Amino acid sequence: KLSRRLECVYNYIPEGSTMADIGSDHAYLPCYAINHKKASFAIAGEVVEGPYQSAVDQVKRAGLQSKVSVRKGDGLDVLSPGEVDCITIAGMGGALIASILERGKEKLADSKRLVLQPNMGSEHIRSWCLQNGWDIIAEEILEEDGKIYEIIVVERALPAHVSKSLNEMEILMGPFLLEEKNEAFKKKWTQELDQWQSVLNQLDKALNSDEVLNKKKALIERIEAVKEALL
Ligand code: SAM
Repeated sequence: KLSRRLECVYNYIPEGSTMADIGSDHAYLPCYAINHKKASFAIAGEVVEGPYQSAVDQVKRAGLQSKVSVRKGDGLDVLSPGEVDCITIAGMGGALIASILERGKEKLADSKRLVLQPNMGSEHIRSWCLQNGWDIIAEEILEEDGKIYEIIVVERALPAHVSKSLNEMEILMGPFLLEEKNEAFKKKWTQELDQWQSVLNQLDKALNSDEVLNKKKALIERIEAVKEALL
């Protein structure tokens, strides 16, 4: 059984896909997708030896060697162009996910959908998608075991709207998540606001140099903007 977080990623893999799960660790997601006939072929990519071995072991235990190819390598290096139509990258920071996509751009040529699950810093992924012609088609936010996770689903932008634009708050908070404003979303941003407020309190105690004043101004603006978005 998958965690709710990975189950949510799984739900966005299109039926009958060929897929790659990058940073797969235990390879639970590709094995599950094959066992449930969601995917016809899967690649589990891992750059670190320990998690790579654990993926190899899991695939063997499940008897799925003919359907799940476990490969060791950095990011999208493990893929040949056109090999898969859906790529999942879950359980990492948004900046790392965006850098994996940027470095492996040419491997994405034939991919139709990316299902990305950043643990933090999801704005890096949204900016990257905007700049590289991928449209966000769905977003989820959920809480599991006291942690809050986001899932961003993207597909190639149609030529008709090459770069569907997002404003600053949509990049930071997520266009669909902002629209929905569910409990997990409110909790995440309330926590962020508390953190920024305590940074602001610290800055209040510091000497009022130009640098401190500028930091305070930027922080206050961000706090106000997020508060307003939460209304
Ligand atoms: N995807 C699984 C999940 O969501 O449960 C595992 C997440 S685990 C926290 C992150 C994994 O990404 C680690 O096993 C790490 O070795 C792997 N990783 C980090 N950077 C990577 C990269 N550039 N290429 C491939 N794997 C990477």
